Amino acid sequence: MLAVKAAKTDVNCPICGVPADIAQRVPPATYYGCPVCETLFQHPMPTIEQMRAYVEAEYARGVYNDYVAAANLKALTFATRARRIAARVRGGRLLDVGASAGFFVEQALDAGFDAYGVELSNEAVSSASPRVRERLTVGDVNALALEVTTPFDVVTAFDLIEHVFDPVRFLQEIRRVARPGALLVITTPDVGHVLRHVLRARWPMFQPMQHTVLFSRRGLRLALTRAGFSDIEIGPATKTLTADYLAGQVDMYLPLAVKLYRAAAKAIPEKVRSAPVNVNIGELMAFARVRDEA
Ligand SMILES: [Zn+2]
Repeated sequence: MLAVKAAKTDVNCPICGVPADIAQRVPPATYYGCPVCETLFQHPMPTIEQMRAYVEAEYARGVYNDYVAAANLKALTFATRARRIAARVRGGRLLDVGASAGFFVEQALDAGFDAYGVELSNEAVSSASPRVRERLTVGDVNALALEVTTPFDVVTAFDLIEHVFDPVRFLQEIRRVARPGALLVITTPDVGHVLRHVLRARWPMFQPMQHTVLFSRRGLRLALTRAGFSDIEIGPATKTLTADYLAGQVDMYLPLAVKLYRAAAKAIPEKVRSAPVNVNIGELMAFARVRDEA
């Protein structure tokens, strides 16, 4: 039987509360790892000012131009997700938390939902297409909770929970805008993914000024249970990518592998290199229901 090694720190896991050990230093951040639920989290957390300054700098570097260039692939990814959700819930009111410029809201509308979004960035909302702009609110879920008179049937939050300071509280806030039995769908990086063990400190999901909490399946299940969700199903999330796009994304982290790919790619027809495929890129997708509190 495996004994759980007692941690020597007084830094506690934000999900299950037990003392955690230092798992990985990724300067300027230190990630701690929970010996029970395997959640990785930064301690101390970056400040909101540091997180904002980082986003502005990335914006200036043109990262978001790549994001716009990848818009077609994003639309395919979101269309697939909207269809998966529609297979579980037929229509109704849907809220996308962290909606950015409303890309998922557009796909959800196409899948038959009365879809809305909430997004912190004014910039993102003002760049939304006219079709969805009116459906987006600038602010967080708390700000929205005050306005919501008809609770949502579906709430989605893609690649968002890894950016919050208190994940259980974040999930509880989502519950406040959803009806009992409502479906929650979230995606987030998977600390159990093989690339994390291969790349260690260079694992791209370690983002000191952005990713505050990184989940294992067990940690995510525990956080959802503690926040009042049931019927939890957790599996791999897939994104629609092309080989060329993927090579561009990992270039920074695996330059040698990408060099080899580029050399080999010359022998691969362009049609194959640019064909969209669904790839598990090391993220989890969770489905859960708002528990009916008697
Ligand atoms: Zn834990």
